[in-house]
Amino acid sequence: MSTDSDCLFCKIASGAIRVTLLYQDERVVAFPDIRPQAPVHILVIPRRHFASLAHTAPEDTGLLGQLLAATTEIARQQNLADGYRLVINTGSDGGQTVEHLHVHLLGRRHMGWPPG
Ligand code: AMP
Ligand code: ZN
Repeated sequence: MSTDSDCLFCKIASGAIRVTLLYQDERVVAFPDIRPQAPVHILVIPRRHFASLAHTAPEDTGLLGQLLAATTEIARQQNLADGYRLVINTGSDGGQTVEHLHVHLLGRRHMGWPPG
C-alpha cells in the first residue's frame, strides 16, 4: 500500500489518527469533515496515497470507480434522496489544501452554482 508518512489522511486511513469512520472497506474510508460546509459534509478517500486526482494514472480507473461507488453508497446511507454535491478540489487553482485525493460529499442543503 502506498502511503506518505507525513500525510494526514494516510494517518486517518491507517488508524494512526482516530476519527469517526462513517464507512470503510478494503480500499476506501470516509469520515466527517472537521469544518463542515453543509449539514452533511463527508470526506471519502482511497486508503492508497495519491497527492491529488491529477496524480492518478489510467490503470487507477478501478480504484477511482470504487471511490465513487462507495461515495454513492454513503449518500444512500445518509438519506440524501433530494440530491447532493460531490467536489474533488485538485491543485492550487482547485482550492486543494490536503494533498491526499478526497471526494467531498455535501448535502442536506441546496447548493449554489457556480461554485466560488
Ligand atoms: P480540500 O480543501 O479540498 O483539500 O479539503 C480538505 C478538507 O479536509 C477541508 O474541508 C478540511 O476541513 C478537511 N480537514 C482537514 N483536516 C481534517 C481532519 N483532521 N479531519 C477531518 N477533516 C479535515
Ligand atoms: Zn496520504
